[in-house]
Amino acid sequence: MTRDQTLREQVVAYGLKLTPSGLSQGTSGNLSVRHDEGFLITPSGTPYEEITPNGVVQVAMDGSHAQGVRPSSEWRFHRDIYAARPDIHAIVHAHPPHSTALSMCRIEIPAAHYMIAVSGGDSIRCADYYTYGSQELSDAVMRAMEGRLACLMANHGMIATGPTLEQAMWRAVEVETLARQYALALQIGKPVLLTDTEVAQALEKFGNYGLMSRNKSSA
Ligand code: 13P
Ligand code: ZN
Repeated sequence: MTRDQTLREQVVAYGLKLTPSGLSQGTSGNLSVRHDEGFLITPSGTPYEEITPNGVVQVAMDGSHAQGVRPSSEWRFHRDIYAARPDIHAIVHAHPPHSTALSMCRIEIPAAHYMIAVSGGDSIRCADYYTYGSQELSDAVMRAMEGRLACLMANHGMIATGPTLEQAMWRAVEVETLARQYALALQIGKPVLLTDTEVAQALEKFGNYGLMSRNKSSA
């Protein structure tokens, strides 16, 4: 099997995991993997069960693609993330309930749990609101993603990335778990935040933990 076929099948397979993992429903969300001077991305507005390997769209870094196909409406932020971040080879965008609920309140996730380390820093920022699919939204996402591997998107959802689709999907589930825990803690009381030193220690240790220690890159 060619690398192109393998990656197309991976995009289909991980797309099928979005709904059972509670990250997305219907046609919401999209995912991509870096490939061939550009990236392979899910088609726009297509239920994940209906996406075939051939239906996954190859997009070049200038946004061009084969005629007659429609890449995800969010191809701009996928493109801009790949252009700016050589460490990132896969991107998952979804609208999971807890991350999205925090994003509706425009609340970022602080270091209230050591697993904040999945973000690559001491917080998961919330990108400003702009219309879905717009370049303005992509620009806002790039600001929120600075030095991070994940972010929330105001009144919209979240993005998780990684060196492989496996790691990006794992990170997406961890971000949603952190969002759920933080939302619950806010209802109980005032979450105590970890200090900079405590976060730095967690970040250092985390580099060799679980999925972080393998699959450093899919390309
Ligand atoms: P697409 O179906 O075009 O990927 O859009 C889904 C989405 O989540 C837009 O933000
Ligand atoms: Zn979306």
